[in-house]
This record gives sequence, structure tokens and C-alpha cells, in this order.
Amino acid sequence: MLSEFDLIKQFFKRDRPGRADLGIGDDCALLTPTPGFQLAISSDMLVEDRHFFAGADPFMLGHKSLAVNLSDLAAMGARPLGFTLALALPAADPVWLDGFSRGLFALADAHDCELIGGDTTKGPLNICITVFGELMPGHALRRDAARVGDDVWVSGTLGDARLALAVAWDELTLSADDHAQAAQRMHMPAPRVALGLALAARPVARAALDISDGLVGDIGHILAASRVGATLDVDALPAGPVLARQDRALRRRFTAAGGDDYELCFTAPVANREAVLEAGRASGTAVTRVGRIEAEAGLRFVDAHGASVDLKLSGWDHFG
Ligand code: ADP
Ligand code: MG
Repeated sequence: MLSEFDLIKQFFKRDRPGRADLGIGDDCALLTPTPGFQLAISSDMLVEDRHFFAGADPFMLGHKSLAVNLSDLAAMGARPLGFTLALALPAADPVWLDGFSRGLFALADAHDCELIGGDTTKGPLNICITVFGELMPGHALRRDAARVGDDVWVSGTLGDARLALAVAWDELTLSADDHAQAAQRMHMPAPRVALGLALAARPVARAALDISDGLVGDIGHILAASRVGATLDVDALPAGPVLARQDRALRRRFTAAGGDDYELCFTAPVANREAVLEAGRASGTAVTRVGRIEAEAGLRFVDAHGASVDLKLSGWDHFG
């Protein structure tokens, strides 16, 4: 049986120079941000049976645990620096730990984000990561920064993760290929860090957040914090490749309200349209203009012809 310290040494402590002044092994890690920069800090906890299924693939779980945290940095426009990992494990299973740490470090290395410390304890499987990033003061993409007249944009595509969940819940069936593609979206989300950085430079965007619970619910946080409303074009919402092949009603529901895609929703002045498109190109991330911020409170939907759409009447998705 692995001791707590053997476990940390074997799976989480790496013998390589990092950005931190002091990493794993002491009472605290020491990290110096770039002079003049502000720290951006966020935590996300993943709990078995609530955020992932019991028996979930450990490699994918390692990826996703960090991905959802990096997604928060992306939504703020911050550059990742490092993270801590607090783990409760039912047992010190080396096969599980090997897969988990490989998934975790593959994504960490891709974003040059170093594991600088954490805590390990026995208990029901629970993974809590805190990420540290940095950004220029005044450049953070805050939820309270949307202004009337701003365009509303989303990155990438929406709804495929929700499709995978629908299959898991026996709401519908997909071909094996389609299911694999949708499940990949659910288990291995790609945090939009490069796009967030490009949008925060200058800055190009005003308000932003990452879509974890579905666009409709999440954009509500921007609208409330900024004391504005919005109209979105349901047919402009970019569907994932698998969802794009489903019927229109499902497409509308899952793009509008499906969760777990970890795309960014952001607002930007109309004058910055070209700059937003350039940020998308520079970061290799699709960006789609889907609506407009308005003075009238609340969220409204129109179709491609501008006619009002009541999504509630056509089968609202309360489970996104
Ligand atoms: P303390 O008793 O001071 O809390 P611990 O004995 O829990 O310290 O941890 C020893 C060192 O290992 C610390 O530097 C801590 O940050 C690090 N650590 C513990 N668990 C993890 C983990 N899961 N991942 C990374 N580092 C960890
Ligand atoms: Mg401790």
C-alpha cells in the first residue's frame, strides 16, 4: 500500500524546473507573478456521481478536472501560472493514479501550468483544483462589464456534450461514431485559454464567462451583473458537429441550454468585430456572433428571420 508521501512523490512531484520559486514539498508553494500583473484565482471541485460517473476513465478525469479550472482563467482572460490539487481518494490505486496524473499533466503541460502543491486524503473520490493565473490590471473580462449595444459572441460549438449526456440518460440514441465524438466533448473539454488571452489583450472584449451550465443560464450571470438584457438568434448558435445533424428542435434546445461544453460567451463593442474575428483566427478558435446586448432586462430569442421564438413552449431543457 502506497503511503501519502510515496503517492505524491510517485505521481505528482516532478523533477523538472518550473515557474514556481518553490513547488511541492514545503508547507507552501512560492510563486512570483510578473511585476505589475494581477493574480486571477479560481477553484472547481469535481465530485463523483455529481460531476462525473463512478468508474469514469481516470485519464479523462485528470484532463477534465484541470480543464474546467483553466476554462475559468480563459473566461477572465488570464494566463495560467500554476495550480494546486486537493484529492480525496477511496484507495491509493496506482493504475487509477497513473491514468489520472497523465491526463492532468498532459493538459497542464499544454498550457505551461505547473502543479505547485495540494493535499491528499482518504475519502470518497473528490478532486478540487485551484488555479492561479495572471493578467494586466484593468484587462480582466468581468461579468459586470457588458454594455448596451455590445455584440454577444460564443466560441467553438455548443451542445455536443449535452448530446452525450442525453445518451447516458437514455433520452436518445446515437450511432457509435457520433456517440464517441459527442462523449469526447463531454469528457475532454478544451479550455479556450488562447482565445481568452487574445480577447483580454487591448482589451478586445468586455464581459465574458465560460459556459458550464448552458448558455441560457450562464449568460444570465452577465446580464444580471451588468444590469442589461439580450436578444439571441437561436439559429445562429453554433451546434457541434454531431448535434448539427439532429433535428432543429433538439439543436435549438441543446445549443441554448446544454451544459458542459466549456466554450466562452463574451460581449464586445460593435467597433471591435474585426478584432474579435482576428482574436479567433490568432487563437485557432471559431467565434460566432449570436446576439446583442439591450437595455431591456431579460433574455429574448429570435429565429434567423428575426421572428420571436419562445423556447419554453418548444420543450425547454431544464436539465442542461
Ligand atoms: P501539510 O501537512 O503541510 O499540509 P502535506 O503533508 O499535506 O503538507 O503535503 C506535503 C507536500 O505535498 C506539500 O507541499 C503539499 O502541497 C504537497 N501535496 C500534497 N498533496 C498533493 C497533491 N495531491 N498534489 C500535489 N501536491 C500535493
Ligand atoms: Mg496537508
